[in-house]
This record gives sequence, C-alpha cells and structure tokens, in this order.
Amino acid sequence: MTPEELTGRTRRHVIDLPEFGGALHREVVAPFAAMRQAARAAGIDLVPASAFRDFERQLAIWNDKYTGRRPTAGSDGGPLDLTRLTPADRVDAILRWSALPGASRHHWGTDLDLYDRGAVATGVGPRLEPAEYAAGGPFARASEWLERHAAHFGFFRPYRGRRSGVLAEPWHYSFAPIAHHASRALDVGTLREVLAAAPLAGKDAVLAAIDAIHARYVARIDPF
Ligand SMILES: [Zn+2]
Repeated sequence: MTPEELTGRTRRHVIDLPEFGGALHREVVAPFAAMRQAARAAGIDLVPASAFRDFERQLAIWNDKYTGRRPTAGSDGGPLDLTRLTPADRVDAILRWSALPGASRHHWGTDLDLYDRGAVATGVGPRLEPAEYAAGGPFARASEWLERHAAHFGFFRPYRGRRSGVLAEPWHYSFAPIAHHASRALDVGTLREVLAAAPLAGKDAVLAAIDAIHARYVARIDPF
C-alpha cells in the first residue's frame, strides 16, 4: 500500500458498498461477503457500523475533541473537561478512545466495526459499548459467533485490550492478510510527515510524542 493509502488520503484502494453505506479495501470485499453469508446462515445479520474512514473524517473527529466541540470520556467512561488539561494530557485522553488521524486502521479499508442488524430495531445502530457485546447484550450472539468463526475468514480482533494500547473493542475486526502488510508499512516517518502538513489541533504535542504514540497505538496490537 502507498503512503496515501496507509494514511487514508485516497480512496483508490477501496470499493464502495452502497448496501452498507461504507467502503472496504478491494481485497477485503469478498472475504467479508463470505463471512457475512456464513453468519447469515447462523441467523446473524452481520453489518459494518463503520468500515473505511478517510483522513479528513478522522481529522475532523480529532480536532472537535481537542477543542471540546465533541465530548471526550475519561478513563472511567464519564465526561472529561479536556480544556483543563495540558496539551500532552489532552492528546493522551483522546487517544484512549479515538485514533490519531493517519494512524487509524480504518484508513486501510481492512478494518470494520461490526454488529448484528437483526438484533436491534430498524434504523437503530450500535453505540459501540462493550456491554452490548457481552452476555445479555443485543450483540452477545454475534460476538460469540465472531470469536468462533472470524479467523476462518481471515479476520481477527486487534483491540482486545490485552497487548493493544487501545482499550478492548469487541466490535472491531481486521482482515489479517492485508492489514498485517499495512501495519508494517506505516512507519513513524510516514506518519510524522503527514501530520506535520495537516491542520491538526495539538500538533506540537502530537509530534513531540509521535514515536511513543506510534509504538503504543499503531505497532502494538493483539495478535491473530
Ligand atoms: Zn473500529
């Protein structure tokens, strides 16, 4: 993958899936369709709440959080007033829940946030909270099915909250054969270059910590 593809600054590598209102890497479309078909046979309507996300979208999320236009949760899940924190602490607080623009696995088109559309009322999406995927939650069955079968289709969970710097995201699945290449290719130099040229809020604090951010949030994931 090219630096532009790795950091979500092009859509050349993805194919639109109008059925879901999203897009996936061209080599992930067929594996996902196969997994979806198998899930359907088990009574699960597996769809992405989010798939490919571009740099601009992630940048807007980041800047809204940094400037307080969009709420950020603290480590306990409760609301956090970022404006009271130093720039470095603001960056750390946002990174608990949101990827740095350029460093989101969703840029690659290999990663999806999945839920069972059949388990909720029409038009209702997931809140993407762990309780929804745990026993008793609406997506517990989908979660169990994915834990058992996703690997067969090449998908795994990079964010189990064991090794990964990102907290546990039971909804987030990644297509290993392509994502592993992308993960190795996205080096800290590429990331630094892209961010230095972007209108990123908190840029100085981010660039000062970029080696640690790359090591913790890009390089360190839970294994296939
Ligand atoms: Zn995700």
